[in-house]
Amino acid sequence: MALTNTIYNSTVFQQACKQFDIAADILGMDPGLRERTKRPRRCVIVSMPVRMDNGQIEIFEGYRVQHNLSTGPAKGGIRFHQDVTLGEVAALAMWMSWKCSLVGLPYGGAKGGVVVDPRGLSKGELERLSRRYMQEILPFIGPNVDIPAPDVGTNEQIMAWMMDTYSNHQGHYDPGVITGKPIALGGSLGRKEATGEGVAWFVKSYLQDMGIPPEKTSVVIQGFGNVGSEAALALYNWGAEIIGISDYTGGVYNPKGIDLKAAMAHVEAHKNLQGFTGGEAITNEQLLELECTVLIPAALERVITEKNAGKLKCRMIAEGANGPTTNAADKIIEERGDIELIPDVLCNSGGVIVSYFEWLQNLQNYYWTKGEVFDKLYRMLAKAKASVDETKKKYNCSRRTAALVLGISRVAEAKAKRGLFP
Ligand code: GLU
Repeated sequence: MALTNTIYNSTVFQQACKQFDIAADILGMDPGLRERTKRPRRCVIVSMPVRMDNGQIEIFEGYRVQHNLSTGPAKGGIRFHQDVTLGEVAALAMWMSWKCSLVGLPYGGAKGGVVVDPRGLSKGELERLSRRYMQEILPFIGPNVDIPAPDVGTNEQIMAWMMDTYSNHQGHYDPGVITGKPIALGGSLGRKEATGEGVAWFVKSYLQDMGIPPEKTSVVIQGFGNVGSEAALALYNWGAEIIGISDYTGGVYNPKGIDLKAAMAHVEAHKNLQGFTGGEAITNEQLLELECTVLIPAALERVITEKNAGKLKCRMIAEGANGPTTNAADKIIEERGDIELIPDVLCNSGGVIVSYFEWLQNLQNYYWTKGEVFDKLYRMLAKAKASVDETKKKYNCSRRTAALVLGISRVAEAKAKRGLFP
């Protein structure tokens, strides 16, 4: 049955569905199983009254979409952004299902969102909103049901407030309900760096396959949040030159290499890149088309489109963000054949892998060293990379489709074997 007349009719959700359809066609999936695997299982919409600092009550809207619950508790972050929609959250939840399944985590997939610009709230308002969101989704959440985490616009402090709200409700400390927490509250060593470190690991590994050494590598990164800045730092420490960075305020370009430590210090002091003088000011659009070895979109969806895909001057795209490339752009990149694309569900999986480690440590009350975390992380990334590239060869398809074929087939197999209830 076609997905018409539904609230999921957003462009981002359609993008995720189109990607799914390409992989499902290769797998020759039975129509019933196909639809069952594609559609989100539960979508919750909540409205949250929050007392603002001026005494007024404002109502915020929030979502939690659980796409797949067949292969374990659902897993996925919570996004705070003014433009977030239910359809976008449903797409992000779908990608979490394939990502967890691809790298072999015993999880389903989910995502949450709150329609708010967190930068416009005071700390007290942000805390009240975060606690209220957790309170509203509490019946659908739990260490064995659905385990949220950070995403765009959220951080470890927000995870701490949410964990506290849940624990107070249970009557005891229950850190396994959420990941990406501060270390003092059951967070895992390495979680903060994990997504960016993982992106950098894939970049290094694929560059090695291509015979490109660090000193011949220039990197452009769109998005200088947790993922973009950690990926930049890891590649900078490896010896690559970071020639372009940007955030929502605009970009900076320096062909001689940006002083990354200075850029990070600027963001620490001013909260964004605005006013950073370590290079020439450029727009986000110009940044994406810079000549470089590696382009890392690490912000939001749909920034590589049919308008700029033909003009890209990079050898590799490493998707730190979820869904940065539209279906039309995918097709152009595939036809060009001169860009290695590391798809989101593979490229940024380091984050959820270390979230899984955090959850394991919480459930066992037994904490690992940073060395143990990274050793286990890199082994999982290497295994996923090898299986994706083997699948790519087997079906003679794009790396994205290969990754999705693996992720989707495992979820579909679990659903088929479980059967229907009743
Ligand atoms: N929000 C991150 C992602 O998109 C992390 C999710 C998690 O750690 O559960 O993969």
